[in-house]
Amino acid sequence: MPDPPADPAPGADPGSAPDLPALGIHRIPVPIPFPQAGGPVNAYAVEDEDGGLLLVDAGYGSDEATAALSEGVRALGRGFGEVRRILVTHGHVDHYGGVRFVEERSGRELPVFGHPADVPKMAEAGWRWKDIAPGYAAHLRRLGAPPEALAAIAAEGERGFRARRIREVRPIEEGARLRTRHLELEVLHMPGHTPGLVCLLDRRHGVLFSNDHLLERISPNPLIELGPDGSDGFFRPLVAYMQSLSRTRELPVQLVLPGHGPPFAGHRQVIDTLRVFYRRRQERILAALEAGPRSPFEIAGVLFKQLRPGDAFLVLSEVIANLEVLEVQGAVAREERDGVRRYRAVGKSGR
Ligand SMILES: [Zn+2]
Ligand SMILES: [Zn+2]
Repeated sequence: MPDPPADPAPGADPGSAPDLPALGIHRIPVPIPFPQAGGPVNAYAVEDEDGGLLLVDAGYGSDEATAALSEGVRALGRGFGEVRRILVTHGHVDHYGGVRFVEERSGRELPVFGHPADVPKMAEAGWRWKDIAPGYAAHLRRLGAPPEALAAIAAEGERGFRARRIREVRPIEEGARLRTRHLELEVLHMPGHTPGLVCLLDRRHGVLFSNDHLLERISPNPLIELGPDGSDGFFRPLVAYMQSLSRTRELPVQLVLPGHGPPFAGHRQVIDTLRVFYRRRQERILAALEAGPRSPFEIAGVLFKQLRPGDAFLVLSEVIANLEVLEVQGAVAREERDGVRRYRAVGKSGR
């Protein structure tokens, strides 16, 4: 499975890091209340072709967050009235929650772009928690989650869906290009962290806006994603993520501009570390199955010793995502009994 270390892709010159302000890129860190996300979220103000600004993500919608965004734009000697368009990289509230605020301060209706697969989570006309909550509850019960974990997950889900949604999201897809004053940004669809996550790549300068697809120090959480009717199998986040990572590894990138934390170089090394991290986790899951079949919740209890109910969704998501990878590899198989799904290790002879 591991690829041999590749030489730098054509176009990448590892010797010189791009000068961001010279490329018209300004990072604005915005505080958020989710410690597990990896620190403040970044909004990027990019100098646009016509002298205006393109915003890549708009941060979170709290008073503290919007104040930080306002101050960041003001520090550039700019105002929200100069924002011409917004691109939302994926449908998580820390990345789109500030859109309505920016639009109101700009004084007009701004074009806001996002990938169709994430639109239901961020658009005004999208899914509501009350509509999808029963499907999630049923699914999590099937994964073995007890009532107290379900209650905590419901509270967390409701909180995540409370944000102000985007008035209208215009679809943007793989291969689309956004030309700014200094950049030619290519839209790359990189499903994994969410189904509709997009990165932006300027090949000439080797700059990748990676948002939560690639962070320097933390692995993006592969979250359970169900269809609107609560059906699973609609999206396997970690299976998709590993494919997107392989694609990212080959890109001509000199500098990664992440969704959280400062810019960093060495994307291939970060990706290789992530691959090792997930492989180890999968080995631990297989070890937990040596004693016999277990539900994903039982596996979570073995892997994460002090499991708080509030962590149940993240942890269950992590376990099920890795089980899906093992399932694709033929290393585990599932069975369902009494409404609970259990996984068992498949011996080499049984493949
Ligand atoms: Zn995210
Ligand atoms: Zn994020």
